[in-house]
Amino acid sequence: MSKEIPYKIYLDEKDIPSSWYNMRADMKNKPAPLLNPGTRQPMTAQELSGVFCEELVKQELDETTPYIEIPQEIRDFYKMYRPAPLVRAYCLEKKLGTPAKIYYKFEGNNTSGSHKLNSAIAQAYYAKKQGLKGVTTETGAGQWGTALSMACAYFELDCKVFMVKVSYEQKPFRREVMRTYGASVTPSPSETTEVGRKILAEHPGTTGSLGCAISEAVEVATHNEGYRYVLGSVLNQVLLHQSVIGLEAKAAFDKYGIRPDMIIGCAGGGSNLGGLIAPFMGEKLRGEADYRIIAVEPASCPSFTRGKYAYDFCDTGMICPLAKMYTLGSSFIPAPNHAGGLRFHGMSTTLSQLYHDGYMEAVTAKQTDVFEAAEYFARVEGILPAPESSHAIKVAIDEAKKCKETGEEKTILFGLTGTGYFDLVAYEKFNDGKMDDYIPTDAELEEALSRLP
Ligand SMILES: *Cc1c(COP(=O)(O)O)cnc(C)c1O
Repeated sequence: MSKEIPYKIYLDEKDIPSSWYNMRADMKNKPAPLLNPGTRQPMTAQELSGVFCEELVKQELDETTPYIEIPQEIRDFYKMYRPAPLVRAYCLEKKLGTPAKIYYKFEGNNTSGSHKLNSAIAQAYYAKKQGLKGVTTETGAGQWGTALSMACAYFELDCKVFMVKVSYEQKPFRREVMRTYGASVTPSPSETTEVGRKILAEHPGTTGSLGCAISEAVEVATHNEGYRYVLGSVLNQVLLHQSVIGLEAKAAFDKYGIRPDMIIGCAGGGSNLGGLIAPFMGEKLRGEADYRIIAVEPASCPSFTRGKYAYDFCDTGMICPLAKMYTLGSSFIPAPNHAGGLRFHGMSTTLSQLYHDGYMEAVTAKQTDVFEAAEYFARVEGILPAPESSHAIKVAIDEAKKCKETGEEKTILFGLTGTGYFDLVAYEKFNDGKMDDYIPTDAELEEALSRLP
């Protein structure tokens, strides 16, 4: 007899992982190195440390150490909102009438409302330890800026956030949460930086982009003594920190002797998915177990499914290192999809390599289908999901429906990365029937891809 599975599998505080797991250590084909945009040679630790914190540079370049200890100060912070529950979606299963067993790992139970806090607190800690005064960053939809401002408040670091102007104006509540936690928030492009002034002169009245905001944040970090730049996704260090999600999920499953058949996550820059799958992918890479792993991306920004695996810039200003990744081209500007956190043109180099080597699959979801799934989920499971997370919900529901047809009792795990309280304008659009699905044409994609470096 197997043990009855509770609605929520909670771990104890002592089960918060003591180390992060670095998937790259088990990869035979390592992700390609970041290149210096000038010399096209691999970026050295010294070059990177002009922009990033020293310890984070070490983590970024470390592709051999499988477990990296989580400092006690970070674990203490994690205790405020972790371990995060692993939920057996009994209500959803019942409503769907599926024999599938559906689980989700919920990362929305902190004020920032997403998994991003897992890496924000680590990055703030290493900045503090290095004796820095503060950090700079960009934020689009605002989740990362919020998470970072919370982390900086905790370690008493200055936090300068460049927020894409259109979001700054449309999401005053996110901006106010950041300010409440002590961050300064500047709409980007701004007059406060050289690159901002240049962009404004060339494009007066522009409402900004993530690429511009990155360029401004990097400029401020490199021109101010005691500041470094931090990033909330894409980088290897961020995937490393996010491995707490997968490690906890695996520990919770292990308590009941459960093994998921498939793992589903939304993919913007790849950090939550990379974190969720980490220990499972480790087993897969070492040949100990097999899992089906599915990345879900918006049809409006399909890096994996319609992009090219090539070296590209991470920002539109072309000042950041070149990364080899699935990309739509750094000049590609995705249609204004409401899942702001999934609007990046590229993808984590680690996930790109794994996808290229056939260790995972990728699918796209259309915006209106995603919101339909979001509302279905909200009504049966109670949680109001973030639009980003709802991409994973959509595909989990699709897979559960397939099980209903075939009668297979598959175990499905998906990542519920956050809550959607700040996305109610998007929900309003959907409820009013005013949401559309923009899918880029091949010609549009080719245009941006033809400009790859
Ligand atoms: C930022 C964000 C994402 C996407 O980022 P990844 O790095 O791809 O994980 C997904 N969900 C939420 C709620 C987010 O805030």
